[in-house]
This record gives sequence, structure tokens and C-alpha cells, in this order.
Amino acid sequence: MKGQLVIAGLGPGPEGWVTPAATEAVAAADIILGYTPYVNRITARPGQVLEASDNREELARAERALALAAGGSRVVVVSGGDPGVFAMAAAVYEAVESNPASVEDVDIRVEPGVTAMLAAAARIGAPLGHDFCAISLSDNLKSWTTIEKRLRLAAEADFVIALYNPASKARPQQIRKAFEILSAVLPPETIVVFARAVGRPDEEIDVATLARAPEMPCDMRTLVIIGSQATRQVRSPDGRAWVYTPRAERR
Ligand code: SAH
Repeated sequence: MKGQLVIAGLGPGPEGWVTPAATEAVAAADIILGYTPYVNRITARPGQVLEASDNREELARAERALALAAGGSRVVVVSGGDPGVFAMAAAVYEAVESNPASVEDVDIRVEPGVTAMLAAAARIGAPLGHDFCAISLSDNLKSWTTIEKRLRLAAEADFVIALYNPASKARPQQIRKAFEILSAVLPPETIVVFARAVGRPDEEIDVATLARAPEMPCDMRTLVIIGSQATRQVRSPDGRAWVYTPRAERR
């Protein structure tokens, strides 16, 4: 039988945010590989093997998944959120590009998932209602100069900006540098949403202005959304509040 490799997204957390197709792929797998916290979300059935590894081993994991699938196994590589957004699907295709023969006897497909940006947006209202972009602040795989340029130009183009990987233990200060760069272009009252651990028991959603953003807590489990100049808050008489971006450009 031909081997199978599915790169599946598990969404940001709750079971209800995992697609039935991803659930089916995981249930049918002989072996499931991924970063430890994602693999830990899976309960193996008898006969199924779970193989967790470190976050920095993405390419090695991709190559191993391809090799196992080439041997005839049904292999699933899991990512949090969507596997194509700063995650394993691109790592697998990098491995395919460097060794195209590795995929010869393998059926390969990606099962999408709810990415953190969409889950965070849904919690607060509709901040992504008009044009937006997503930028990872991690400089593991690109230079900080590139990140600075993308932040500046995205702000100048007035995109809503979703920031993935805003901070980590190794990079606690970069988010502040990012706010400095954005503040040179955007007004201080620009809305900034901090969505931490969306869908988890310790979820926390905060809304601040760009001027106050540097004081807000922000870690590697936070997704930051910087509003465009049209992004605003809307309130109900009973005190509820949401952030949204109107669909139409103001003329
Ligand atoms: N593939 C993932 C993103 C991986 S990059 C996805 O599609 O969501 C990791 C970054 O995603 C984190 O640093 C954080 O910015 C964001 N993230 C992932 N899960 C999150 C969650 N439950 N709540 C808030 N942000 C999350």
C-alpha cells in the first residue's frame, strides 16, 4: 500500500475548533509526529505511536515523516492552529524540495486548521473585516532588518497587522521595538488587541492603544492584532465592547 503523509492543523485549543477531516486523519494514523505540546493533545488508540519532539527540530521531523510514509505507514504531522501558517506544512515541502524522490511513493496532503489570528479575531469581534496581513516577529529564520521593513511598510499601507511569535524568553524585547517602529507611522490611539492563550482555560483578551501597548504583558502564547486607522471599538448600552474594522474604506 502507498504510504500517506497528512500535515494536519489542530486549531488553537478547543476540540470544537478541530475540523472533522483533521480528526479523521489523526484517528487513521499509524504514527503521529509533532512538537510536544501538540502531540500531548492526542490520546493514542492501541497500536498508534506518538512521537513528540522539540520545536527547533522541524526539518528533521519533516524528513522523518517523509521517510516513514515512504515505508508504507500512515503518518500525520500535527501543528497547532493551521499547519500552513508559520508551521510544519512549509517544513515538509522544504524537505520535499531538497529530496524530491522522498515523496515518490507517498500520498501527501495538508488538512487546514483554525489559525490563531482567526480565533483571536472571533473572540474580540471582527478586527480582520478589511485588508490585513500576518507577520511573525521571530528572527530565527529571517533577519530583524526584514521584519522592521515589513512592519513599517504594512503600517504605511494601513493594513490591520496580526503579529505571530511576538515574544519569547530569548526575545523579550522585540515586541517593544516593533511598537516603536509602528508608532513612527501610526497614531498613538491605534487599537491593539492582545489575545493570550485563545481557547485555553487561561485565555485573556486585552484591548489597548498603541501608546499603551508597550506596557501590556505579551509572551509566546499571545497573538497581537494592530488595528488599521479604520479599526474601532463599538459598545452596547449594557457595557459590552467589541473591536471591528468596517468592510468599506472610508472615502
Ligand atoms: N500554526 C500556528 C502558528 C504557529 S506560530 C497557527 O496557525 O496558529 C506560534 C504563534 O502563534 C504564537 O507565538 C502565538 O503568537 C500564536 N498562537 C498560537 N496559538 C495561540 C493561541 N491559542 N492563542 C494566542 N496565540 C496563539
